[in-house]
Amino acid sequence: MNFSSRLLENAVNEFSKLPGIGQKTALRLVLHLLNQQADDVNRFSESILKLKKEIQYCKICGNISDADTCSVCQAPKRDKSLICLVEDTRDVMAIENTNQYNGVYHVLGGLISPMDGIGPSQLNIGALVDRVREGTVQEVILALSATMEGDTTIFYIYKKLKDFPIKVSTIARGIAFGGEIEYADEITLARSIATRVPYGV
Ligand SMILES: [Zn+2]
Repeated sequence: MNFSSRLLENAVNEFSKLPGIGQKTALRLVLHLLNQQADDVNRFSESILKLKKEIQYCKICGNISDADTCSVCQAPKRDKSLICLVEDTRDVMAIENTNQYNGVYHVLGGLISPMDGIGPSQLNIGALVDRVREGTVQEVILALSATMEGDTTIFYIYKKLKDFPIKVSTIARGIAFGGEIEYADEITLARSIATRVPYGV
């Protein structure tokens, strides 16, 4: 693409780094922003800067939060003996949308993937074991994707948890989880949690 302006080119290059955004779409978005009022553009960039600067990760479950403890972990009504283990915050949002789950979460922040150089130590696994060791937890639901990375991660975590006197279960498979779970319909998702099965190898 030949740009008439270096400023335009820089902005388009930044936008085209976003997932699913090619150069043409990036150009369309940038030109759109250029036509907006200065106030609107300020609000737009401010929200991104603030997000990056102020976002926190819940010190209990690892979910994205505005405070050091997330709203789920803070809620007295939630069942703290039941933990649903998920890959990322999108999964928490999808399960919360079902309005059927009353336990708490643990957010891994990814899956074990040797191909991508992601090992167990880069994930929020130690904190999960600490939560279980603390004694309140009675069941951990492994709600990870039915992929090779998901299976590897489930197996690794199961080995870490199997000696504790708790139930370890998995959700009904066949659901596109992790990344795609947000597209799973709410009834299917709620049912897959309700009909979870004990995990064993
Ligand atoms: Zn939390």
